Amino acid sequence: MSASQYFSKTYREARARFRKTVAEAAGTLDTAVNPNKGPAGEELSTDAAWFGPKGAERSLVLVSGTHGVEGFCGSGAEIGWIAGGGPKRLPAGMGALVIHAINPHGFAWLRRVTEDNVDLNRNHIDFTKPLPQNPAYDEIAQAICPRDWSAAGQAAARKALDAYAAKHGDFALQSAVSGGQYKHKDGLFYGGAGPTWSRRTFTALVERHLRAARCVAMIDFHTGLGPYGHGELICPHPVDSPVTKRAEAWFGKEMTVPARGNSSSAVIVGTMGRGLQNALPDAAFTDIGLEYGTQPAKDVMLALRADNWLHLHGDLNSPRGKAIKAQIRAAFYQDKDDWKEMIFKRALDVIGRTAENLAKA
Ligand SMILES: [Zn+2]
Repeated sequence: MSASQYFSKTYREARARFRKTVAEAAGTLDTAVNPNKGPAGEELSTDAAWFGPKGAERSLVLVSGTHGVEGFCGSGAEIGWIAGGGPKRLPAGMGALVIHAINPHGFAWLRRVTEDNVDLNRNHIDFTKPLPQNPAYDEIAQAICPRDWSAAGQAAARKALDAYAAKHGDFALQSAVSGGQYKHKDGLFYGGAGPTWSRRTFTALVERHLRAARCVAMIDFHTGLGPYGHGELICPHPVDSPVTKRAEAWFGKEMTVPARGNSSSAVIVGTMGRGLQNALPDAAFTDIGLEYGTQPAKDVMLALRADNWLHLHGDLNSPRGKAIKAQIRAAFYQDKDDWKEMIFKRALDVIGRTAENLAKA
């Protein structure tokens, strides 16, 4: 059987398939309906499934769709793992919380952000404290999201970004843009001004299902960084934190740590893992981002900037609007059999090794 059967064409299809697969595998479904609708007026929800004994001391958490449109990938991995009997093969006593489409609005609308233009993986900060600063983003904010998306407007913006990269390096440009910012609410990688619906939903799920957990490992599925089909393991925590030490002990050199400078990801703040830690401060936590490559970084960034322009200034129903939606979908989801095979094989490998390590933790 091909892995492609687990992957969906739309959010609506993914949601129905996840719910059906969970029911067939006798999981307990826990659904949170988002107050917004999808592009065809469809209902949007985060659907979570619980497998295993209630109040398990050791629990595995899988998350898809933190970045909306990236959900095609994680959805396929989750559905395939459940359909293939993954929950039944977990070590005795272990629970699994499988969260599908934690950012359903972004998934349905083919956007990386939530309904309020927030990057959910930058949203888990303490908003009562002074907000993190990103002066590098401020410096090039106009070039990242120009008002004018004509060929000339794009060329002028590109020139400014290239000049920044020439002066500071390509990775410094990536860090400036993607590190997270809390000042430009219409910009990219905006962390928000308060907890989003998706953050509140995630926290509630964690508190409801994992309150008794002593050891928790989370695999958060992402796409858009690294070589085609490659699944990089990323631990976005400080080098000396117990979370990073555990992640490196479990996966050795395979685990990259942005704070060490050995990852394709920039150092970021306000991540989902931080949110889980805040909800379960006493649990021994291992945080694993599983990041799959799609297209070259420059193309992915261009797709994000185009999509930002489209939703602020463009027309979704115009030919140009449709082309931009196809562009961002391809930047985060390679709708090809070989890519899906690579994604699924790697997902099973990482889930299996995570469960093994968690059982011994
Ligand atoms: Zn992502």
